[in-house]
Amino acid sequence: MSDRPHGPSPTTLIHNNKYRDAHGSPYTPVYTTTTWRFDSTADLLDVVEGRKPGCLYTRYGTNPTIRELEHSLAQLEVAPAALAFASGMAAISATLLAHGRYGIVCVGELYGGTQEFLHSHCRELGIPVNSLMPQELDQLGPVLDRPGMLVYCETPANPTLSILDIRHLAEIAHQHGARLAVDNTFASPINQRPLQLGADLVLHSASKYLGGHSDITAGALMGSEELVGTVARWRKNLGQVLSPETAALLSRSLRTLPLRIHQHNHNAQAVAEAMATHPRVSRVLYPGLSGFPGHELAAQQMDGFGGMLSIEVDGDRDAASRVADNLRVFVLAPSLGGTESLVGQPCTTSHHDLTPEERQRLGIGDNLLRLSVGLEDAGDLIDDLKQALDKI
Ligand SMILES: *Cc1c(COP(=O)(O)O)cnc(C)c1O
Repeated sequence: MSDRPHGPSPTTLIHNNKYRDAHGSPYTPVYTTTTWRFDSTADLLDVVEGRKPGCLYTRYGTNPTIRELEHSLAQLEVAPAALAFASGMAAISATLLAHGRYGIVCVGELYGGTQEFLHSHCRELGIPVNSLMPQELDQLGPVLDRPGMLVYCETPANPTLSILDIRHLAEIAHQHGARLAVDNTFASPINQRPLQLGADLVLHSASKYLGGHSDITAGALMGSEELVGTVARWRKNLGQVLSPETAALLSRSLRTLPLRIHQHNHNAQAVAEAMATHPRVSRVLYPGLSGFPGHELAAQQMDGFGGMLSIEVDGDRDAASRVADNLRVFVLAPSLGGTESLVGQPCTTSHHDLTPEERQRLGIGDNLLRLSVGLEDAGDLIDDLKQALDKI
């Protein structure tokens, strides 16, 4: 892990104001206004024609509260530019439309909403979409058969936590004139920075770790000025910008992101180790366990192993449901990345619409439980899992 470039320092994330408030507020206030006033038509034209910086209209993203957030989002991924969106899917759909028109190749398991967007909406628009499993990577070069295509992936993947080699994917993509976009929601920029590993674009559902309290819906995109700028035009006219109120809440959350992620990592490692020796648990999927197939690769490309893990209960689908139903500290809910620990059974939620055989092919048993390990006391979380496992 030592020769990898560093991420943002907690000091920078706290003291990174882009604007100086006239009244001395240490942070940019919430500008809820939709529009800005000008002294003359000439002044307005200077801003419209780019001769002077300035704000015009909030939907365009030219709002100090939103700009301040984007400044922090760029710093998080050590990127030249960032855009904030009204949801993770807004960021993903705008990026796929702006950069995917020559064809999209996705690698590995993807978030359900992204799958749906690719396989129904993109195909309806005539955009060629290909999917490869991680073991089919030898076919990636051959399917990138025209310049300007987009390779799209998530690592660690949901809910198996399987790890893809970002550096390797970027090399193959670039050899064929394609670009690589990585959804970094599961890892967070504190644990993994795909741009530093060669990716061209990074996406986040900020509704998860970046927001971190299960109380805001937002998304983010980071990358070069040029690639992000292209998406900005789509965001403007698709009307996907986030509200200034949400932007301010997200800015506040980012100041504690390093602190929260370190504790998520610590708690998830403790839970994973306790579950690995539990007699009612047949398998634990967590990149931080030395026996996990992606452990070595994760140790190379990540600074921490994250707060997400999955366990296979030693029993059937009903046994796993019983464990989920008997948990008292873990809350039964989809989503992830909040202060509170969450549990979900993928065969009843994200992967409900697949047949048991299709789920098996993806390595998702009906006895699998996905855990988003929160910021409670790790001992309390382990005790909670143990008492629920005792009920089967
Ligand atoms: C939740 C999630 C999304 C979608 O984000 P929304 O904010 O719900 O639109 C995309 N990718 C991943 C990996 C997610 O977990």
